[in-house]
Amino acid sequence: MLYTSQGDSESAVTSSELPIPSYPTRSLNFLKALPRTGGSAKASCEINNLSPSSLALNVLVVGAGLGGLAVGIALARKGHAVTIFEQAPQMGEVGAGIQVPSNVSRLLLRWGLGPLLDGKVVEPKDISFRRWKNGNVIGYTNLVPHFHDTFGAPYYVVHRAHLHESMQRLARELGVRILTASKVMNYDMDGPSLTLQDGSTFGGDLIVAADGINSVSRKTILDGVDRVPLRTGFAAYRATVGVEKIREDPAVSWILEKPGMNVWIGEMRHVMTYTIAGGNSFNMVLSHPEEEDPETWDQGKALESMKDHFKGWDPALLKLIAMIEKTMKWPLMTGAPIEKWVAPTGKLLMLGDAAHAMLPYMSQGAAMAVEDAAGLAEAISMIGSKSQLQIALNVFETIRVKRANQMQEASLINGKLWHFADGPEQEARDIAMRPEVEGLHFDESPNQWSDPVTQDWCYGYDAEEAMAKAMSSALAKASLPASVND
Ligand SMILES: Cc1cc2nc3c(=O)[nH]c(=O)nc-3n(C[C@H](O)[C@H](O)[C@H](O)COP(=O)(O)OP(=O)(O)OC[C@H]3O[C@@H](n4cnc5c(N)ncnc54)[C@H](O)[C@@H]3O)c2cc1C
Repeated sequence: MLYTSQGDSESAVTSSELPIPSYPTRSLNFLKALPRTGGSAKASCEINNLSPSSLALNVLVVGAGLGGLAVGIALARKGHAVTIFEQAPQMGEVGAGIQVPSNVSRLLLRWGLGPLLDGKVVEPKDISFRRWKNGNVIGYTNLVPHFHDTFGAPYYVVHRAHLHESMQRLARELGVRILTASKVMNYDMDGPSLTLQDGSTFGGDLIVAADGINSVSRKTILDGVDRVPLRTGFAAYRATVGVEKIREDPAVSWILEKPGMNVWIGEMRHVMTYTIAGGNSFNMVLSHPEEEDPETWDQGKALESMKDHFKGWDPALLKLIAMIEKTMKWPLMTGAPIEKWVAPTGKLLMLGDAAHAMLPYMSQGAAMAVEDAAGLAEAISMIGSKSQLQIALNVFETIRVKRANQMQEASLINGKLWHFADGPEQEARDIAMRPEVEGLHFDESPNQWSDPVTQDWCYGYDAEEAMAKAMSSALAKASLPASVND
């Protein structure tokens, strides 16, 4: 187990110890040489024909973040009636850029989101991993054409507001009702029903809570004992810079020459950059150690403290940082792996950050929420009667818990791989990534975007296909006489 308490959580993330990965990867093989411690086929993202569920359920969804909207879209496509309750008075999404990796673009494009994202997404050609001190390229991942050709789906970056707005439009077009200013206060997991702050109560066949990291549903689902996500000892500054400013400065204008992602990695810190808004805005996420309680933070000092954190880094990066006019600091939280997402009654479940908050170091948090939604819709649309709902939810839970918990783990490991202090591990990592930089053949890499085994596990995954396969075998098993199953 990686975490048992807050103290353990922080040390698990910030200590230099690396857990043994439970997910398929060769990204840590390079460490074996140190004296110290001694498949997926190409999947389609073509818009697929709707195959409506033979059983139309009335589903209540709590939260209209990216996870809740994905649930709305995925279920409505299958013919279920969906109402989403959002506590905020208006729809919206905070923060700037978000990566939409191939495992999730595949689903979104299949669901028909493509035209709504036109002109908004950017498809970076590659990712360059840079040495913190001088910007030298030490790791490299080709996205176009490699990801496209291998995984059959693009790797996008986009402004969160654009993604959220497009998903909201698609959900409404599919008939999803979205009620804002509707804060859910209580759940009756037997009904099931939920009660809003104004006292009104709504009932349905199933409640899906996508209520985020501060979820209220989680405690109900976990029989009154909450598993609150914990501080990790890291925080991130998020900011955008106008591309005109960058274009005017020859010392940094090179970064806009092609759509690409550039990540500077160093001891306990990294800076992720890419353009969003169709290429019109430059997004930066600056991760750094932060022990103080977010309650005590003074956001007014964020700009100044951000600059202090990166003193001595690559002069080109510092030029970009100097162009930032305002920033916000975000706590980076992670949940301990949770095995139970479905309430004992089988009528209430949680997904997204409520169930599996993770460090953003694999850029897969929202991606997992969308995969959860896809898996749920697939599972409950393969049953023919409400009496089989429990089977569908059991399969959903088994498949999604494993996948999301492994991604939590991969995110944690990625932080360690990126944050080595200069020394033997950093040198071994950089040597192990050299073939990909030099365009040579390689079978493994500490760069989890390039390592062929991690890549296939992470980006080759088709959440609908995986769930359909698991459901087919569970339903086949359930239809056998009891004596055969014993
Ligand atoms: C710095 C940073 C960078 C990241 N980058 C990426 C990335 O590149 N790619 C990626 O895939 N992920 C990324 N993530 C993770 C991603 O942002 C989250 O995993 C994702 O947004 C979670 O979506 P969600 O819908 O589960 O939760 P949320 O977005 O938190 O949505 C929950 C919604 O529920 C509503 N709500 C809560 N309680 C109630 C209630 N009682 N009643 C009604 N409504 C309620 C909230 O108002 C909110 O709208 C990043 C995260 C961070 C911090």
